[in-house]
Amino acid sequence: MEIQKKQGSIGVTTENIFPVIKKFLYSDHEIFLRELVSNAIDATQKLKTLSSFGEYKGELGDMKVTVTVDKEAGTLTVSDHGIGMTGEDVEKYINQIAFSGAEEFLEKYKDTANSIIGHFGLGFYSAFMVAKKVEIRSLSYKEGAQAVRWECDGSPVYTLEPFEKSERGTEIILHVDDDSKEFLEQGRITSLLRKYCRFLPVPVETDGSVINNTEPAWTKKPADLTDEDYLRFYHELYPGQDDPLFWIHLNVDFPFTLTGILYFPKIRNNFEVTRNRIQLYSNQVYVTDSVEGVVPEFMMLLQGVIDSPDIPLNVSRSYLQSDTAVKKISGYITKKVSSRLEEIFKSDRADFEKKWDDIKIFIEYGMLTDDKFRDAAMKFALLKDTEGKYFTFEEYKTLIESSQTDAEGNVVYLYTTDRIAQYNYINAATDRGYSVLVMDGQLDSHFVAMLESKLEKSRFVRVDSDITDNLIPGSDKKEAGLTPMEADVLTGVFRSQIPSVEKAEFLVQFESLSGDSAPVTVIQNEYMRRMKEMAALQPGMSFYGELPDSYSLVINVAHPLVAKVRSEAMGALTPSVEPMFNAMNDSQDQARKIRSEAKDGKLTDDDQKKVDTLEASVGEQRDKISAAAGEYAGGNPLVRQLIDLALLSSGLLKGRDLSEFVKRSVSLL
Ligand code: ADP
Repeated sequence: MEIQKKQGSIGVTTENIFPVIKKFLYSDHEIFLRELVSNAIDATQKLKTLSSFGEYKGELGDMKVTVTVDKEAGTLTVSDHGIGMTGEDVEKYINQIAFSGAEEFLEKYKDTANSIIGHFGLGFYSAFMVAKKVEIRSLSYKEGAQAVRWECDGSPVYTLEPFEKSERGTEIILHVDDDSKEFLEQGRITSLLRKYCRFLPVPVETDGSVINNTEPAWTKKPADLTDEDYLRFYHELYPGQDDPLFWIHLNVDFPFTLTGILYFPKIRNNFEVTRNRIQLYSNQVYVTDSVEGVVPEFMMLLQGVIDSPDIPLNVSRSYLQSDTAVKKISGYITKKVSSRLEEIFKSDRADFEKKWDDIKIFIEYGMLTDDKFRDAAMKFALLKDTEGKYFTFEEYKTLIESSQTDAEGNVVYLYTTDRIAQYNYINAATDRGYSVLVMDGQLDSHFVAMLESKLEKSRFVRVDSDITDNLIPGSDKKEAGLTPMEADVLTGVFRSQIPSVEKAEFLVQFESLSGDSAPVTVIQNEYMRRMKEMAALQPGMSFYGELPDSYSLVINVAHPLVAKVRSEAMGALTPSVEPMFNAMNDSQDQARKIRSEAKDGKLTDDDQKKVDTLEASVGEQRDKISAAAGEYAGGNPLVRQLIDLALLSSGLLKGRDLSEFVKRSVSLL
C-alpha cells in the first residue's frame, strides 16, 4: 500500500489533552515505560497468536523487546518484532484514539487523573509525560506492507509518512524532554524495567541483558510445579528471606480471572512485613504493591503475587475498594486460603502442627478481623497445651468437658500467658488433672475474648487468676472458719508484712484449701487484669492503664504453717486485742442502733454527731488492732517468709526485698 506524506491533527476533542497529561499525571511519570513495554509485548503476543492460527505464515524470528537509551541523541527507544502497524493502523489506533467524552471525563476525575490512562487507551500517549517529541517507526506483519513513520511533538499536529524499515515490528522513539533527563540514565531505566517488567511473558532486553523471567511460577499449573519451584520463585521475589512456611496457588477463571501464589512467610520482625508485600500484576505487568482493598486485610501479612486482568489498573484506591469485582476477588481469596489451610490440616496434620506456632498469628488475625474466615477456621485452628499437644476447638472441649465444667455449667478453659512466670500455677493446675493452654501470642488476649464470645458456655481463666481450688468453682467450697476477731487479727498480721511492690496493691483473703496447697498464694483477678490489658491497647482508656495491678494474697488456713501462725498470733495477741475488738464492736453496734431508729432514715444533727464519734472510735480501734498485729508480725519471721515465698513464686519479689528474703532464709536454716 502506498502512503503519501501527510499532516493532520489528532482527534477533535484532544486539543487540551497533552497539557492535561503532563499536568495531571505528574506524580507517576515513570509508568510511561510500563505502558510502552506492555504495548510492545501485546504486539508480540498478537503475532504469536496469529502465527499459531496459521494466519501469519512468515518466520517469527527473535521476538524479544529491546529498550535502548541513547544519552547523546537524547532518545529512549522501545522496539519490538510484533505485528507492527500499517499507515491505516496508525490512523486508526494512534490518531483517532477513543477520546469521545474525554474532556467530560477529565473534568469529573481531575483528582484521580491516573484513571485516564488505561481507561481511555491513553497508554501510548503517556509517552508525552517525559518526551517533547515521539516517533513511531513501524512495519506491519501484513504482506507487502509499507513501513511508516509517525511523529508528533506534543501539539495536536502529527506527521505520518512512508519510511524505510526492513524489520517487522515497531520502534517507539522518545525524544526525552529536558525536565525528564533521568530517563536517559541506563541505571534508572534498568531499575524501572526490573520493577514493572520483571515477569513479562516476552524477553525484555536492555543494556545487553534480559531483565525478566518470562515464565513465573504463578502462570504455570500447580501440577507442573515442585516444592523447589515454589521456593525458588519465593526467593526470586524476596531475596534473602527464610523459606516460607507454605504457599497457596490461586487459580480461577470464573467469575473473574485470577492467578497467583500466596506465601506464608516466617516473620522475623515487623519491618520485613511492611517491606515485602504482596505484588499485584495484570497479565504479568506489575501494577502495585499496595494491595489494600484487593486482599482481605489480614492477608496483608502474606507475601507473593496476585495477577488479574480484571482488577482495574491505574485507578484510585477508593475506587478500587468500592469496585464490586474487587470485593468478589477479596472474598474469593479468603475462601481459597481457608480451604487450602483446611486441606493441609486434613492431609498432613503433623506438618500443620509443626508450623502452627508460626502461622498462628495469621490465623488469629484473620479470625479476629474477618467473620467468614473465622467461621471456616474454627475447623482447623489449633489450641496448644502446656505439654505441647495440639487440639482443635472441638477436640479440646471434649477433652476437658468432664473435669473442667463449673457449677454453672460453663466449660472453663485454663490458660497461661507466660509459662515461666506462671510455672507454679500451671503445675498446681496440672497436678490437679487440669489442662492448661498456652496463650502467649501477640494477639492472644483479643483471641481469648473472641473465643469466649463464640464458644458456647465457655469461660477463659488465666491459671494465676485464682487459687487452683477455685479456678473451676464447684458447689463444695469450704468456709475459712475464722472468727471475726481472728480474721481481723490475721489480716493485720499478714497485711503488715507485705513489702511494697511498685505499681501493685494487695488484698488479703482467707481460704480453707487442701493441706497440700501452698500456705500463701498470690493471684490476680481475671477481670481486672483483662481491663488493664485492653486499656493498654486502646487509646482513651488510660485511666485503667494507670491503675496499679491488683493482686490478692490468699492465705490457706488449712496449711499447717498458717495454722501455726494463727495459734501463736492469737495466743500472743488475744489478751491485748480482745478489749479493743469488743470496744470496736460495741461502738459499731451503737452506731447501727442509732441509724436504725432514725425516723424516715434521716438522722437528727445530734444523732449524726453521735454516729460520727462512734465511727471514729471504730476506726481508732481497728487501727489499734492493726498496729498490735503488725508489731507482733514484725517479730515473727515466719509470716514475712510465707509472704515472700508466695511473691517469689509469682515473680513479684525483686531487688532489696529479694535479697532480704535470701538473708532471712539463711538465718532461719
Ligand atoms: P491500549 O494499549 O490500551 O489499546 P494504547 O494507547 O497504548 O492503548 O495503544 C493504542 C493502540 O495502538 C493499541 O491498541 C495498538 O493497536 C496500537 N499499538 C500501540 N503500540 C503498538 C506496538 N508497539 N505495536 C503495534 N501496535 C501498537
